[in-house]
Amino acid sequence: MNTNIFVQNGIKSEHKAWALVALLVPALLMGAAIYNLNTMPTINAVKSSDSPVAKIAPVTPVPVLPDMAALEQAVFAEFIEAGFLKTRHQKIKVKPGATLSNLLEKAGIDRREAARAIAVLSGTYNLRQLRAGQILNLTLEETGAASNKKNASFHLVGLTTKPDVTRTIFLERTHDGQFSARELVMDLERGLTRASGAIEASLYVDGLGAGASDAVISSFAQLFAYSVDFQRGIRPGDRFDMVYEDFRDERGASIKSGNLIFAMLAPRGKARAYYRFETPDGEVGYYNEDGQSAKRFLMKTPVKGARISSGFGRRRHPVLGYTRAHKGTDFAAVRGTPILAAGNGVVERSSRYGSYGNYIRIRHANGYKTAYAHLSGYGRNIKKGRRVTQGQIIGYVGATGRVTGAHLHYEVLKNNRQVNPMTVKVPTGRKLKAAELKLFAIEKARIDALIETARPGGMASRTLATAG
Ligand SMILES: [Zn+2]
Repeated sequence: MNTNIFVQNGIKSEHKAWALVALLVPALLMGAAIYNLNTMPTINAVKSSDSPVAKIAPVTPVPVLPDMAALEQAVFAEFIEAGFLKTRHQKIKVKPGATLSNLLEKAGIDRREAARAIAVLSGTYNLRQLRAGQILNLTLEETGAASNKKNASFHLVGLTTKPDVTRTIFLERTHDGQFSARELVMDLERGLTRASGAIEASLYVDGLGAGASDAVISSFAQLFAYSVDFQRGIRPGDRFDMVYEDFRDERGASIKSGNLIFAMLAPRGKARAYYRFETPDGEVGYYNEDGQSAKRFLMKTPVKGARISSGFGRRRHPVLGYTRAHKGTDFAAVRGTPILAAGNGVVERSSRYGSYGNYIRIRHANGYKTAYAHLSGYGRNIKKGRRVTQGQIIGYVGATGRVTGAHLHYEVLKNNRQVNPMTVKVPTGRKLKAAELKLFAIEKARIDALIETARPGGMASRTLATAG
């Protein structure tokens, strides 16, 4: 009898527990509870002979709790239904000349809300740095207003953008409806990488193959453009060596490249090496071991030459390629390749000129002039009478005038007579003086030692070209 009473009590207290639960949980969960109750093991399952039940103190059975996770999910799902399902993500590419304010308004955000967001964002990120092509990731939430497309129909919930590969800007809406902005900067470690090899296809192709980035190859080509004719001066098998800073993430992967600190090229087997050096007057340049700058009075390759596929396999010109009528030098390059001022000077002509097509002529010091023909277009502000500096973009490769294909026709004139640009002896650039030379020797020794520690190019993941 005692046993029976105990069991009865137990059932009664369980009933109480279930009643309590039923009050708390939604109808669906209550249904489940009732089902549980009906399927509970029967009292008969406990036999009095199996255990000395009388000696056991009465224990209040633990009430079956509702499944909190399921409950939470049910409530949260409703919340999601109410708000988050109406959010959407939009990717916007910044167009040239566009302002963030236009872009947000176009995305359906109220002008005043956009202004508030911009005010907060500009405290963290200088919006003048927003450039064409930059991607903005927007998180938007429907306002619930009539979806009249002319009216603002979204609230801005979040915005992220990457001004460069190492930085991410976040704008978020906080609980109280305000905006907050922050910047995340990737921690990078500076290292040195060495990309070397032999030119078989072109400096560009083989440089990439050795692990150098586009930017590194470009500055390397620029350095040698003063003294090397990339069209005809390179032969298959000519060696190159580039040592440059690169910035690595915590896994050691190259994120971006820095300065070129050492450059060696052996056109036609004859090695020329240059070291990066900043003179006490603050000018950064590249010098050979004698302290002679890589720069010349005029450039031998006045075109962004990294992609010039050199003269391999091209028809060999008799006597360096110049017939009597052809008083210049041609550089084959794709249409639109930037053309650089070979030296400092003043633009003497910038207009169409007969069979030369679009034509620029620059007057330099010491009776020298340079001329550029067949251009597809002129650089910004390149007009007669304008000063230009060496290396400045003055125009773009094209095929105007009497030509068979896109190329740059380049002439050097001395006292108004064409001379051979490839053999003319033009003044050289800066030569380090005794005191500078001492400092340079120290820097050169430091770089020489560093080169030994450089990581071979192409070991880590490809250097990312530009930010998204
Ligand atoms: Zn020509």
